[in-house]
Amino acid sequence: MHTERLYFTDSALLEFDAAVLDIRPVDDSFHVVLDRTAFYPTGGGQPHDTGTLDGLQVIDVSETDEGTILHVVNNAAGLAVGNRLHGLVDADRRRDHLQQHSGQHILSQSFLEACGAETRSFHLGSVSSTIDIALDSPADEHMRAAEERANRIVFENRPMRVHLVDEDEAARLPLRKESAVQGMIRVIEVEDFDWSPCGGTHANRTGEIGLITIKSFERAKRLTRVEFLCGGRALRDYRLANRTALSVAKMLSVEREESAEAVARLVQEGKSQRKRIRELTEITARVEAAELLASANSVNGFKLVTAVFDQRDVEEMRLLAHRLIEGEAAVALLGSKEPGMARLVFARSASIDINMGQLLSAACATLGGKGGGKPDLAQGGGPNVDKVDDAIKIAVSGLTN
Ligand SMILES: [Zn+2]
Repeated sequence: MHTERLYFTDSALLEFDAAVLDIRPVDDSFHVVLDRTAFYPTGGGQPHDTGTLDGLQVIDVSETDEGTILHVVNNAAGLAVGNRLHGLVDADRRRDHLQQHSGQHILSQSFLEACGAETRSFHLGSVSSTIDIALDSPADEHMRAAEERANRIVFENRPMRVHLVDEDEAARLPLRKESAVQGMIRVIEVEDFDWSPCGGTHANRTGEIGLITIKSFERAKRLTRVEFLCGGRALRDYRLANRTALSVAKMLSVEREESAEAVARLVQEGKSQRKRIRELTEITARVEAAELLASANSVNGFKLVTAVFDQRDVEEMRLLAHRLIEGEAAVALLGSKEPGMARLVFARSASIDINMGQLLSAACATLGGKGGGKPDLAQGGGPNVDKVDDAIKIAVSGLTN
């Protein structure tokens, strides 16, 4: 069954009457075939239209190899073969697809003019669209040149025309690419700019497409993938980008255009500050270790240092433990309390033969948790925060008995 495609000659047509040729139940839905339709079926990188047939929602539109267009509805109540019905295409979705698709024609020809890059494929996505172009070393200049050219064609509001031609006539036209179909060929002309064989929905004038913007580009499968947005999508993306840039600028108290520089400065400052903090932490650990050792008791021939800190980082405790045990013989039993978690770091000088791992696992049991390590340095913790002092006392008695 052949379906007459009303969008072939008029992409602005959104309402039509048609006769029902067939209704086929398929799984949980129905495939409706009409003698004519304004609904675009998925194909050529462009998704299908949506809309209604006599008020019934059309959820998918596809095309068979024989050229029959299938309208998929969940419910075919009221439809009957031989009857006529009224079709309505969703205008917002049609306009959106028309803008992206027509914009693609112009962008593809613009890349050809700007850097000789042919378009190999097109994908119209739900958020953005992409073309894969034959460009080896893509650069910002290529993107800007193609974007400039494309938008000039839009601003000039050139007519876009549909030609239905045979193969001989097509051969005389300056087509950008060869036609994939035989027999009658549909050619889309952008006046004095581009001629492409295509079956999609198109604007009548380039001004309908609106702004064409290139969002990003990357190398992909030996081609260059260009992500672009046209019309309403470009407007929404501008709003989002502007809002993001303004909120960053406001946080940094700079103008929008200065925000990237201000963030770069902040990142650099963060790096130098982190470096300085590491240096200062080393110095602090040495000074603190000297003070703790000076006031520590001597037990069984070594200095015994015990200390409980408020919310001290484990790495800092380990650093302090190293400074405590690296000189004269010493044992360090260090703890830290933070909300919901107590942590312990036990360490001893090389000359002392006591297993810190064993001592620590007993102390962690008091905290309701676990820990372990090597004979000379161990760490662990547990949730019983108010038992930290007890846990260290138990460890001290284990050392001195
Ligand atoms: Zn097209």
